[in-house]
Amino acid sequence: MSQLVTAYIGLGSNLDDPVGQVSDAFVELAAIADTELTARSPLYRSDPIGPPGQPDYINAVARLSTALAAEALLDALQAIEQAHRRQRDVHWGPRTLDLDLLLYGELEIDSARLQVPHPHLAVRAFVLYPLADIASDLSVPGHGALSTLLAACPAVGLERLDHEH
Ligand code: AMP
Repeated sequence: MSQLVTAYIGLGSNLDDPVGQVSDAFVELAAIADTELTARSPLYRSDPIGPPGQPDYINAVARLSTALAAEALLDALQAIEQAHRRQRDVHWGPRTLDLDLLLYGELEIDSARLQVPHPHLAVRAFVLYPLADIASDLSVPGHGALSTLLAACPAVGLERLDHEH
């Protein structure tokens, strides 16, 4: 039997009904082969980063228990992104769905396709706050306690949405 690994996925969308895109993505994450969705954070609204004039983002974090290797999990995430017709032409431009592999167990990975922990994880409020909702006592490999990262990252431009949509 394969070893099960706990992985965390960052979800983001700012096009074509972002709340719907992220809600659908949770269902699709739960359907990945050899993988279970074990927690989902509340949804957050965040100010856009990148070119001006973009709509706000909706962000969330999912926890998975998976038997897939990290690169196979990335393949599955990219297949879901493709199904949401993600547009890749504008760097940091609007996107229907962005899925980032934030953490894969305790591993640190630096390959051509994959950097884990995700390079922006430690400094992005829209990742740290939803991550803390479902994994408050987490330690981030190479960075230390999530609580310390949170204390250094004010929730500016970030709003937790109270209700499930
Ligand atoms: P972006 O469009 O900024 O989300 O970047 C997508 C690219 O980042 C893909 O080509 C991935 O191979 C690469 N990548 C590197 N590390 C990660 C990660 N931890 N999660 C998702 N994509 C990653």
